[in-house]
Amino acid sequence: MRFGDLSAAYERLEATSKRLEMRAALVELIRPLRPPDLSRVLYLSQGLLRPEYEGVELGVADSLARRAVAMATGVPESTVAQRVKRSGDLGSTAAELLEGVRRLDSREPLTVAGVYGELTAIAEAKGPGSQETKVDILSRLLVKATPVEGKFLVRFVLGTLRVGVREMTILDALAGAFADGAKETRARIEAAFNLSSDLGLVASALVDQGVAGLEGITIEVGRPVRPMLAEREPSLEAVLERMEGSAALEYKYDGLRIQAHVPKHGPVRLFSRRLEEVSAQFPELTAELPGAVRSAPAILEGECVPIDRDTGEILPFQEVSRRRGRKHDLDRLREEVPVCLFTFDVLLEEGRPVYSRPFPERREILARMLSPSERIRLATQEVVHDLPSATRFFETAVAAGAEGVVAKSLKEGSAYRAGARGYWWIKYKREYTAGLVDSIDGVVVGAFHGRGRRAGHYGAYLLAVYNDRADRFESFCKVGTGFDDAQLAEMPKRLARFETESRPESVETELTPDVWMRPGLVLEVRGAELTLSPIHPAARGSIRPEAGLALRFPRFTGRVRDDKGPTEATTTGELLEMYRSQVRRASPEEPSGPA
Ligand code: AMP
Repeated sequence: MRFGDLSAAYERLEATSKRLEMRAALVELIRPLRPPDLSRVLYLSQGLLRPEYEGVELGVADSLARRAVAMATGVPESTVAQRVKRSGDLGSTAAELLEGVRRLDSREPLTVAGVYGELTAIAEAKGPGSQETKVDILSRLLVKATPVEGKFLVRFVLGTLRVGVREMTILDALAGAFADGAKETRARIEAAFNLSSDLGLVASALVDQGVAGLEGITIEVGRPVRPMLAEREPSLEAVLERMEGSAALEYKYDGLRIQAHVPKHGPVRLFSRRLEEVSAQFPELTAELPGAVRSAPAILEGECVPIDRDTGEILPFQEVSRRRGRKHDLDRLREEVPVCLFTFDVLLEEGRPVYSRPFPERREILARMLSPSERIRLATQEVVHDLPSATRFFETAVAAGAEGVVAKSLKEGSAYRAGARGYWWIKYKREYTAGLVDSIDGVVVGAFHGRGRRAGHYGAYLLAVYNDRADRFESFCKVGTGFDDAQLAEMPKRLARFETESRPESVETELTPDVWMRPGLVLEVRGAELTLSPIHPAARGSIRPEAGLALRFPRFTGRVRDDKGPTEATTTGELLEMYRSQVRRASPEEPSGPA
């Protein structure tokens, strides 16, 4: 495929924000493609070179890209910088400048394969002199590019491609382009993706072997599985009712979810909930896992929790979040804040997938394969059949420092459902007992400048929940409290890469922040209650025609959810469910009035 055709398709994709139109444009784009171009186009369209979990990064800073544009167009770097100030986007500036460059008509057109190869070379350039190599490759590509191609090349390397095709839309398009598009087929494609986390792999299998070929895709050590997620219920009674009387209750540890991949030989790899590799952050776990797991190759899941060195008690999650992304003082933090992995599930045992077995069987396998150590333990569990024992277990859990409990179904159908949220797992947290609204993970979509003591920082943030049906982000609150000084100072830095000049297509709100943000950073907030709101569009029309849902008195909990991507934030459906359970608690008929 020519890179020019891909760029033209990107122009069309950029022009639409409707999921159906996007899907149609994508189907048209990918239908003629075959592997390996097909995988390349799928990765590129998500702004990636390889599946996300591999963490391949181009490592091209703005300044490098600017230099490459200057070199390719023969314009001084200072001029490029000035023009970017006006346009706000180096991609468009590159396109404008390339307009003015005379290219030889005899030039070879760029191909997707060629561009992909060069971009890979940029990513692979490491060590001394690599910056020069990166600039060099990029400028040579730009010399050969048409203005439109140049625009997308620059945006791609900077990570600001705005085509915005998300995984779910790609799965829709795969079903439409290479299968019958039926719901059931779409589900099979998604299931293969949930197990492999690799769209390129799924697409190639689908094209080469048809829908039946997807059955061949299974789990493998080194390739993270998309995590199974929990639903919630407002009371233990409701939990037991859902579970039809019996369930395994486990402590709900408040930490970082870890999927541990333990090969027979070689290094253990740890993946976060959003499938980022975090092995380097927890060397004590990677060191102890091979000894603790008797039946490698294995894949286990657990929650990584900080513990008190002296008492062995569970500490607040914040202690472990301090270890994220601070490689240099890792040793010191490891000393100060040791962590422990409470394992709660197993997906692969001795190289054999066991994820489709019912949960009680998996728990047995897990208990058998583990020889627990100080750092690698088994989640505390009790099978309960009545409310008094459930309540007792819950109270013990909270007293031991857990957030609450996760109830797990004991039924025949209680397989591990990769990538799915369902009532096979139900969480019930301590806050629910106090009648508080559960914490909400909101995506920052805008920020307001601070005044007074906060001048120079942001004073408040506009947060949105994720509407997974429409693939959009709908605002539900503006939060300004709960930040300490260090967090206030840190936020602008964390948000810099998401800043954008205008409201992103995927964002819906009636408010206009001082600075718009592309959905990226997720913050945990809590509030007094959810109310109907004429201003915030979250779940608009679900309760009353013109009203959405808003969080009253929102407060940042201090927890930045680095482990969640924007589409893993709280969904509008969950928000609605929280609103309903709150109304049920307050009074059976009367919804609360507007905010
Ligand atoms: P939430 O992230 O609020 O949907 O709650 C589910 C999360 O609880 C999982 O993703 C895990 O990170 C965490 N968790 C803690 N303990 C357990 C457990 N025993 N079983 C399952 N998940 C647990």
